[in-house]
Amino acid sequence: MIVDLFEAARADRANAYALDDLTYAELATAVARVAAELVRRGVGRGDRVALVSENRHALAFGYLAALQLGAIAVPVNPLYRADDLAVVFADAEPTVAIVAETCMPFVRAAWAHHGALLDAAEVERIAADARAPVAARRYVDSESAALIVYTSGTTGRAKGAMLSHRNLAAIATQLIAAWRWQADDTLVIALPLFHVHGLVAGLTASLCSGGRIRVHARFDAARVAADLAHDATMFFGVPTMYVRLLETPRDTPLAPLRLYVSGSAALSPEIHRAFEARFGAVILERYGATEFGFALGNRYAGPRVPGSVGIPFPGVRVCVSAREEFRVLDDGEIGELLVAGPNVFLGYWRNPTATAEAFRTGDDGTRWYRSGDLARRDPADDTYAIVGRIKELIVTGGFNVYPREVEDVLESLPGVRACAVLGKPDRVCGEVPVAFVEAEGPIDSAALLAALGARLASFKVPKELVVLDALPRNALGKLDKPQLRRDYLAGTPTPSPADRANA
Ligand code: AMP
Repeated sequence: MIVDLFEAARADRANAYALDDLTYAELATAVARVAAELVRRGVGRGDRVALVSENRHALAFGYLAALQLGAIAVPVNPLYRADDLAVVFADAEPTVAIVAETCMPFVRAAWAHHGALLDAAEVERIAADARAPVAARRYVDSESAALIVYTSGTTGRAKGAMLSHRNLAAIATQLIAAWRWQADDTLVIALPLFHVHGLVAGLTASLCSGGRIRVHARFDAARVAADLAHDATMFFGVPTMYVRLLETPRDTPLAPLRLYVSGSAALSPEIHRAFEARFGAVILERYGATEFGFALGNRYAGPRVPGSVGIPFPGVRVCVSAREEFRVLDDGEIGELLVAGPNVFLGYWRNPTATAEAFRTGDDGTRWYRSGDLARRDPADDTYAIVGRIKELIVTGGFNVYPREVEDVLESLPGVRACAVLGKPDRVCGEVPVAFVEAEGPIDSAALLAALGARLASFKVPKELVVLDALPRNALGKLDKPQLRRDYLAGTPTPSPADRANA
């Protein structure tokens, strides 16, 4: 159970740093005070505690206090405005929300009849108040929900993925074992804590390991580089962060940490190699999702192969299945990646239909989660590669185009900072690939298309190449392809970047 893992770390490491400059003992006391405040506001077992804030201590305290009380933490993207918030609140029905000042006006507009709103600064004041009462831990069954994370899906009804106490414990112990995470490790995180990558892989696993985590409010390449130079041993980021670190001035040193991890989106082989060439560090790429934490990662002992997401984490099972039915495909064939194990979530909160659709039963009765990602297994070294999302597969004139394959080539061309390849409806071919490019400066589209033509089969070469000042990204820094599709391919005339900027 996850709280027992924290308590074990605290028992051994009371005076060691846990979160920034708070020791394990100080953090435990702060959390017990915040828990007492939540109890005073009516939070009981199974009640939801919404957390709407950028990274700061109130968010960590609220999350840990909810776990201690057997309540369910519901972290919410602090960039959400009233409409999105209203959807989440109506679904989760929180008893309390801990809210950063900047988010408060939007939360108030969306809060309706729910319970108390606690200001994040007030929560931090209570946490530091030596006279504040402390609450005792409440025990719940390890199958109970501990966390509901609303998936970043941008269409349809928001779905709250429920992770149990057992799921969190499984995810933390899997990462700790696979990455040889030790009590003397210091992890630097600039990922948002409202997402599984930052909250579970970062904060939760770090506190179970007995190590220290330093959390940045947001990612700033220069500040992160400077912080890494101070006794850090690990950094977890998304690919965009590695791109930004590579863009720092040439004289910016970067600490040779024992572990740089990238995930949440595909890391292009180009960035992988450029990072190694410049900083001497071989990034370990891993693959995960809100619904199961983490499934695959490159071998810690190596080789850490660009374009591969390696092997299953300890205790995790994966297989590559046909898309229409459960049928394990032969090695090398591309199919849907299915995931099973103690890390796989309970289901979607109050949404049995979506939950049923998310799983497939195997021949032996195994309940497999359908990742929606296309993958292939390489028998030579028993590793997996992610080819892309099923929904993003482009079928042009009967041929399959995996956007990632085109993106990897495009990103290796000079002047391309980032790119996305999407399918555009086409009368003759059904769909044709179209490329969107974020350029480092003025760029020659015709030359890029010619370079692609020299390296890819003709049906894979984009029929159009749109150069943009910046590709849309979500709060995690991941490319937002649905947004790009809505903006440029939804049947409306293509707006110029200037129109977009003025919109
Ligand atoms: P989320 O639930 O927001 O974390 O998104 C999970 C999705 O991110 C997965 O289903 C994949 O499509 C994508 N993803 C995560 N890690 C990787 C990776 N290493 N390579 C490619 N796609 C990834």
